[in-house]
Amino acid sequence: MALRTILTYPASELKEPARPVQNIDADVDALVQDLVETMYAAPGVGLAAPQLGVHERVIVLDVDDESSGKHLIKLINPVIVEAEGSIVWEEGCLSVVDYTAEVKRAKHVLVKGWTTDEKEIEVEGEDLLAVALQHEIDHLEGKLFIDRISRLKRDLYRRRVKKWIREGVPLESKKRAVSI
Ligand SMILES: [Zn+2]
Repeated sequence: MALRTILTYPASELKEPARPVQNIDADVDALVQDLVETMYAAPGVGLAAPQLGVHERVIVLDVDDESSGKHLIKLINPVIVEAEGSIVWEEGCLSVVDYTAEVKRAKHVLVKGWTTDEKEIEVEGEDLLAVALQHEIDHLEGKLFIDRISRLKRDLYRRRVKKWIREGVPLESKKRAVSI
């Protein structure tokens, strides 16, 4: 297992869609373990492979911050098969430093995917888990939560980040609030 660097906006790799995993082999297993370790170390409640620069459809989540590890979800090739209701959640992202914004998503989702031991599983999520599942699956499409806010807000954030880069402020030094 290894801690890996989480890419941050505006890294272009975050915009690239990920490809489906064809073989759940030792490499995928190692990737899942790195994702888990990197997510907990961040700390975050979810992490998708593209955030590590790996364009494969793999995500991990743990929205329970009280009993860390007990509710760990690892999904390969996740697909949303049902989505119901709507909820507005103040989202943050490990790849979008020092920023949160309200995003509207489905309140309840049913997601199908595969485990590392090649079993097909279903995960049902409500509220934060539903939000986190949709947020992570967005990462697999090369989409960030700031792509789901108004253009004006996104532009303001983009300008802030540009300014930090221009001034040589290391983005890693910025806080990563409520991070999915
Ligand atoms: Zn994210």
